[in-house]
Amino acid sequence: MKYFEPKSVSEALSLLKRYGEGAKVVAGGTDVLVDMKFKEEPLCLVNIKRLPGMSYIREDNGCLRIGALTSIREIETSPVVRQKLPLLWEAAHQFASLQIRNTATIGGNVCRASPSGETLAPLLVLGAIAHARFPKGEKKLPLGDFFLAPGKTLLGSKGLLHEIEVPVPSKRSRGAYLKHAVRGAMDIAIVGVAVLVTPDAGGQKAKDVRIGLGAVAPTPIRARRAEKALRGKVVGRALMEGAARIAASESSPISDQRSSAEYRRWIVEALTRRGLA
Ligand SMILES: Cc1cc2nc3c(=O)[nH]c(=O)nc-3n(C[C@H](O)[C@H](O)[C@H](O)COP(=O)(O)OP(=O)(O)OC[C@H]3O[C@@H](n4cnc5c(N)ncnc54)[C@H](O)[C@@H]3O)c2cc1C
Repeated sequence: MKYFEPKSVSEALSLLKRYGEGAKVVAGGTDVLVDMKFKEEPLCLVNIKRLPGMSYIREDNGCLRIGALTSIREIETSPVVRQKLPLLWEAAHQFASLQIRNTATIGGNVCRASPSGETLAPLLVLGAIAHARFPKGEKKLPLGDFFLAPGKTLLGSKGLLHEIEVPVPSKRSRGAYLKHAVRGAMDIAIVGVAVLVTPDAGGQKAKDVRIGLGAVAPTPIRARRAEKALRGKVVGRALMEGAARIAASESSPISDQRSSAEYRRWIVEALTRRGLA
């Protein structure tokens, strides 16, 4: 296996172009090294961890720009993330152990495209945009289109995630990220639900509702029919319960060693109801 530590993004991109499917980008390595141990070794590793200028959290004109190499711990301890993007903060706070949070990057979490990736459902409902670099140039890819299947994204084998742009929601918005796991943060989510509700100016009706579901489909998804059932309405208990049932019906979970599909659907309903309340 070949190993490279490129000094610049363009050097990293030319390595990805040269080795194609045989190349593997490694950032924090908390997924890649586990895969190398239990699955297969790539032809070549492209370690981007020391690339300059890719670890930052910046406020910019109504959004936060987060460099792909920013660690989960940096997100968890960032006062601006906690204040402006509490949904993302909650996901970072419930993410694995301190050791993993120190090492794992947000870019790695997004590019891994695991349906249970902690930051994915929150980033989806926040309307985040991935800024990616390819050998032929730069692209802005809304996260709503970014995930294709478990482990597959629009980056393909030649793209590098550089930044995640996250619009800051209205000050009136309220939301929550709720993770269900047997051992809390130490476990990967059995189900993760992110809810973001923005009331209208009068504060009575829900102007916008976004519900993101993790670990219950091949990619993180929005529960669009449940959102529609609430949008423009005065959201009382009966509507919340109805929307939570719809969200569960929109999920398509699998049964695996961590949970049955039926249990996951039940948890989607419970967490969606709780997130809306
Ligand atoms: C003990 C343990 C507990 C865990 N608990 C959780 C948990 O609670 N929640 C959770 O969501 N995850 C968890 N994980 C999974 C993992 O920590 C996360 O997915 C993490 O965010 C991956 O980040 P990384 O920087 O380590 O990525 P890496 O392992 O370096 O890379 C992950 C994937 O992304 C690609 N990649 C990384 N950066 C880029 C980039 N900038 N551009 C293009 N491709 C890139 C890599 O090629 C690889 O396919 C856990 C892992 C372990 C080992």
